[in-house]
Amino acid sequence: MDMSTEPVRTGNDFYGALAARKPEIVAEYRRLTPRSAALTERAAHVFPGGYTRDALLRAPYAPFVVEGAGSTLTDADGRRLTDLWFNATSLPLGHAHPGIVQAIQQQAAKGTAYFAPTEHELALAELLAARVPSFERIRFANSGSEAVMMAIRFARAQRGCPLIVKFEGSYHGSYDDVSWSVSPPLDRVGAPGAPSAVAETGGLAGTEGRVAVLPFNDAATLRAYVQANHRQIAGLLVEPLANRIGMVMPDPAFLAEARSLCTAYGVVLIFDEVIAFRLGYRGAQGAMGVTPDLTTLGKIIGGGLPVGAVAGRADILGLSAPDQAGRVTHAGTFNGNPMTAVAGRATMDALTPELFDRIGALGAYVRDGLTAIADGLPLQVTGAGSLFKVTATARPIRNYRDAATNDKAWESTASLALLNAGFLMTPTLSGCVSAVTTRAELDLFLDAFQHIVQS
Ligand code: PMP
Repeated sequence: MDMSTEPVRTGNDFYGALAARKPEIVAEYRRLTPRSAALTERAAHVFPGGYTRDALLRAPYAPFVVEGAGSTLTDADGRRLTDLWFNATSLPLGHAHPGIVQAIQQQAAKGTAYFAPTEHELALAELLAARVPSFERIRFANSGSEAVMMAIRFARAQRGCPLIVKFEGSYHGSYDDVSWSVSPPLDRVGAPGAPSAVAETGGLAGTEGRVAVLPFNDAATLRAYVQANHRQIAGLLVEPLANRIGMVMPDPAFLAEARSLCTAYGVVLIFDEVIAFRLGYRGAQGAMGVTPDLTTLGKIIGGGLPVGAVAGRADILGLSAPDQAGRVTHAGTFNGNPMTAVAGRATMDALTPELFDRIGALGAYVRDGLTAIADGLPLQVTGAGSLFKVTATARPIRNYRDAATNDKAWESTASLALLNAGFLMTPTLSGCVSAVTTRAELDLFLDAFQHIVQS
């Protein structure tokens, strides 16, 4: 990798250099991807705005993919892309891993879903429970959003009150009660210690008594709020690696405070590990040494098929047992379906502590490389384990308001330039490595990134 640097540029000047090149970058993207352009146009006749999944939105349009193998995607124009997001972190073994393909094929030949339980869902649940001490009981769902919805329902049932505390900037999926203050404009966020709850989407009913928003990584504000309001609080929902808050880790003291407050007042502590479960063999909670009451899961535990789960304390999840008065109900045509269960099991079986170490070392390698490139520039490099992110701000990130100072246009233009160079990340420059990622790919990626930063 060529680490020579040009004179350091900062702030507007630095971001402006890429902004000036945007027309040429967009033109190049259009030149490389005419078939994706045509498919996007076709999609607009059936999907509003051309999309059926918000995360894929990008200007001028997203590349359609026809195939994935290992760390490589082939797009509709026959270009090969190195995947650095793996369907939003959900494929820790990469695309079309032979063992998972075989498990899926064998199960498909026996039927994809039955109106009956199977030993497969049992085996996956047992595997997860054996790994993570707090997973005393588990229920499967079909997405991370549904897992979060169910965890909140359990917390409310346990406590007999509706208020859920979430943190400003945290994303927890599509459920209404977590769709507040995910990416609020900075002119609407309110006072730092008392954030306003800002609707993330149209169609929400309101927060009254149901949802409160607090600043992330602010233990003192959390303590004061919980001490004053604990009788009304059902649960505290924390993502132990705040993906959408610039992919930062919570301070250990903040997490410890959350745990001790929840213990003191009986509030249900929910860790959203839909992404963070990727952080280690026993998930983020194992890596950070803090034990939640409930954990929401998704992504990697489904081996690439749709999945969600809520796991945790036997007494809380036991509220869904058939003999409970006023029980928590949770139906779902595909809950624990055998296709997801066999794919999830094949994936989780392969994810040994050694493999987590190996993927984590690759993550550190790319973060170190990016940090070297970003040295002296208004860019923050964050992440942990296999996850990494570049945020276009001069401000070190501890919470949403730091992260939201970013130059979003710089990030999306850089992401498009990376697509031109053959690398797929999110438009906000979030990335991850998987077991199939090679150092050679990461070196090429770092070269491409350095080129974008310098030109
Ligand atoms: N929680 C977190 C932390 C997530 O990152 C996501 C999705 N990226 C969800 C919940 C929702 O999961 P799903 O997209 O499977 O509904």
